[in-house]
Amino acid sequence: MTTDTGWGDGTRCVHGGEPERVGGGPFMSSPVFASAFHLGGDDTYGRSGNPTWRALETALGELDGGECVLFPSGMSAISTLLRSVLDAGDAVVLPSDGYFLTRKYVAQELAPLRLDVRETPTAGPWPDLTGVRLVLLESPSNPGLDVCDIAGLAEAAHAAGALLAVDNTTATPLGQRPLALGADVVVASDTKAVAGHSDVLLGHVTVSDPDLAERLRSARTVSGAIPGPFETWLAHRGLGTLDLRLARQAANAAALHAALRDHPAVTGLRWPGAADDPAHELAARQMRRFGGVLTFQLAGLPEVERFLARSRLINASTSFGGLHSNLDRRAQWGDPVPEGLVRLSAGCEDTDDLVADVLTALS
Ligand SMILES: *Cc1c(COP(=O)(O)O)cnc(C)c1O
Repeated sequence: MTTDTGWGDGTRCVHGGEPERVGGGPFMSSPVFASAFHLGGDDTYGRSGNPTWRALETALGELDGGECVLFPSGMSAISTLLRSVLDAGDAVVLPSDGYFLTRKYVAQELAPLRLDVRETPTAGPWPDLTGVRLVLLESPSNPGLDVCDIAGLAEAAHAAGALLAVDNTTATPLGQRPLALGADVVVASDTKAVAGHSDVLLGHVTVSDPDLAERLRSARTVSGAIPGPFETWLAHRGLGTLDLRLARQAANAAALHAALRDHPAVTGLRWPGAADDPAHELAARQMRRFGGVLTFQLAGLPEVERFLARSRLINASTSFGGLHSNLDRRAQWGDPVPEGLVRLSAGCEDTDDLVADVLTALS
């Protein structure tokens, strides 16, 4: 299942999930759209399996170091995991400062399970985990970019008999390998940096336990919420350049951090890649590399609107991790954060152009 080739990130992104080399064959398989297949082979019906899914599952599974199951969105991945592992009355720990729909899904859609939901900030303090069934972490958290000790919490969760899952969306499979740090489950939205072009939704779960992988695949088949082959293929095509894109995004984030850290209009600047960020020491210990997402505060809503009106390169949009730089004022979506808090996702523009544009927009 997991083959360790010893290759670097770029090679793994380019070659992950590729077809066998045959004369006259393509480097990357084309998407297979069939709903029904001739019986007698691996595939029977498009709801239960598809060679296009398996190609991307192979690539992402190698990067995450486990068995990958694709879903049509990050929320589909997260909600299927929660439905698959939680029983009525179970205790579950969720990040109070993580992606808001995870909390909303549990509160709204899993209400009949009468779960004991314990919301905890990513930076801690962490509660006693006795009696907990599942701990879901998000590190770095979205949008605050706080970081928690995955290996330490995996140990605490396992001592309490709980499963540990990590939402790895912000980190990306190149930035962090939660399974190698002791987690049981990785969940991720591949809509963000993995697909990377703001044109497709997709998500995945990667696990080390083959039985859990089988349960998730079965849940996907039975529920019928499945990824489209074309979307899957687009994400796989995007994955090929993830290493390159992340390198540019991280370089842009570092330059923006340097330009903004003493800027009078900016407070609360966070980027875990910066040596003076409160999360840096822990992040540097458990992350392999940093990404392009920064968070900071402007004075309020009018200042954010003025910034966006003056910038020529930064799009106002939610989502992050794409080619295009964008900025999202999180309070508009109901995150429990100040009105002027923004998440800036550095894209793949030239560093000098982006820094100059941001400084002009702030002036
Ligand atoms: C975007 C996001 C999700 C949800 O993913 P979708 O693909 O939009 O469903 C989950 N977790 C995090 C951290 C995210 O940023």
